Amino acid sequence: MNRPRLSIVVPCYNEAACLDMLHARVTGAARAAVGEDYEIVFVNDGSRDDSWPVMQRLAAADPHLVAINLSRNHGHQLALTAGLDLCAGEEILIIDADLQDPPELLADMRETMRAQGADVVYAVRRRREGETFFKKLTAAAFYRVLDRVTDTPIPLDTGDFRLMSRRALDALLSLPEQARFIRGMVAWIGFRQVPFAYDRAERHAGETKYPLSKMIRFALDAVTGFSTAPLRFASHVGLWLTGLSLLLILYIAFGWISGSAVQGWTSTMLVVVILGAVQMFVLGMIGEYLGRLYVESKRRPLYLVQDVAGPVRGQSTLGY
Ligand code: UDP
Ligand code: MG
Repeated sequence: MNRPRLSIVVPCYNEAACLDMLHARVTGAARAAVGEDYEIVFVNDGSRDDSWPVMQRLAAADPHLVAINLSRNHGHQLALTAGLDLCAGEEILIIDADLQDPPELLADMRETMRAQGADVVYAVRRRREGETFFKKLTAAAFYRVLDRVTDTPIPLDTGDFRLMSRRALDALLSLPEQARFIRGMVAWIGFRQVPFAYDRAERHAGETKYPLSKMIRFALDAVTGFSTAPLRFASHVGLWLTGLSLLLILYIAFGWISGSAVQGWTSTMLVVVILGAVQMFVLGMIGEYLGRLYVESKRRPLYLVQDVAGPVRGQSTLGY
């Protein structure tokens, strides 16, 4: 296969207002890095705005650009997977469409890759501009909790903005799972990975495409994908509660023997309510894993392509 030296992969959901500026800046950064030997892969993740027509217009004018229109909104991580699966570059830059991650950092990231002989250069957010206090707080908490419960060390405060070598990307694409938490999966593959600190900018236009519901789902995919700690937690709680109920049985037996039992509506209700809550919680956690097991067992393709504008050079293995 005739591979370009560089692929830049961008998942886009309702980003029409960002695309022109994005295309210009990414093109500038790519040219500065590798001359003409690059491709840009835009993935339209079922946008409801004009993203697709804008992409078609850009692709018609730029032979470096390939735009992929997914059949519907598959979600950030799967849209990104589609782009990675269909790109062909020797080096791959993953970047968000909203220009929060400056494309101009490409030069320094490549430099770091060369200097350190790395397969992955991942960008670590030193500061985050223009994001709400709530977003920063939940993000900070998320990465720290994740770090505690996962068996794979996943770098803190790191998004998907990163530069990868072809062999690292091929390793990543060999993981077939549906529930994809890509920054964790990249950490899992190993090879030599080095951090690259940067300040995260504000969105160029529009608003975040990650409402709370998507954030929660994302967090659950991350935890369940990389840790069985919640299941272990369930068995620990079970063990402690068993110990506690043994004590309780002794206490009840004592009351029965000494004839002092009766009263006790309050304590009974407390036990019922607490046990009920704990059981529901633990069941729910088991359900999270079971549901994912079910989804994985169906072995559906990870994404469906509806239209393509421009030359697709990669060989798809995960989509349809
Ligand atoms: N995105 C996507 N599909 C979705 C949600 C988001 O492709 O369902 C893209 C979005 O267009 C952007 C990237 O994922 O390029 C990150 O989203 P966003 O910037 O809204 O997240 P934030 O930076 O607020 O965490
Ligand atoms: Mg963003």
